[in-house]
Amino acid sequence: MVFLKVNFGGFVPLSTVDWRGRAVCTVFLRGCPVRCHYCQNIAILDGMDEREVDEVLAMIKESSLLVSGVVFSGGEATMQKEALLALAKGVKTMGLGVGLQTNGVYPETIRALLEGRLVDRISLDLKTQWRRYNNLLKKDFADRVKESLRLCTEAHHAGRLPEFEAVVTTFRGCEDDIAYIAKDAGGVDLVLQQGVLAGVAPLDFEELAAVADRLGRSVRIRTRQDGEVAYEGRRIVRAESIDVSGIEQERRSER
Ligand code: SF4
Repeated sequence: MVFLKVNFGGFVPLSTVDWRGRAVCTVFLRGCPVRCHYCQNIAILDGMDEREVDEVLAMIKESSLLVSGVVFSGGEATMQKEALLALAKGVKTMGLGVGLQTNGVYPETIRALLEGRLVDRISLDLKTQWRRYNNLLKKDFADRVKESLRLCTEAHHAGRLPEFEAVVTTFRGCEDDIAYIAKDAGGVDLVLQQGVLAGVAPLDFEELAAVADRLGRSVRIRTRQDGEVAYEGRRIVRAESIDVSGIEQERRSER
């Protein structure tokens, strides 16, 4: 029994989109110190819904025959360090993988997860280039996110973090930032994720591919229309989560 409370945000018993190639449960933890204008989860950025850690572990246990992992998301899951560590330990005890989606502003939680070998996959959001970070987030978070990036990169290269990706939600008008962010995230998987914001036309696959072409490195491109595509130069090299035969056909006919 774990007598520890968690500020709970929600639970999805079965998801095929939160961990590439795996069926997982997704646990949302409530609360986030950041206020992104494009946040899709504003309903759980504040407030309280306290549950016992064991209650959340019981939800996971009920899905455990259907999934091979659990992704912790939010809000910002790393904000609740002790609860997240207890949940991750419980998930590991069930023999499931642990994934984390994070904005990186609590590197001490990420360090504890890595040191305890309690996490298998981290998706780290990089919101903008470092010199603009604190201005965009309206808080002094740049150094914390840099530390999270450093911790994850080192652990990944040392084999202590099997999967790591830096995710850039990319909006029209902010394309020029990507080259700086890509330089900071050199040597790790980079995902260009289509940003969606009311009143602004999202960048489509071709426009994101044009951004990627200027980087001179392979990236993953995520759009609502085409799912996730591994993209290298003008070549789609691999896509695990969707059938891209139609996309490839279309691209070929355009050349
Ligand atoms: S960091 Fe994530 S959860 Fe927090 S406001 Fe931004 S998008 Fe929403």
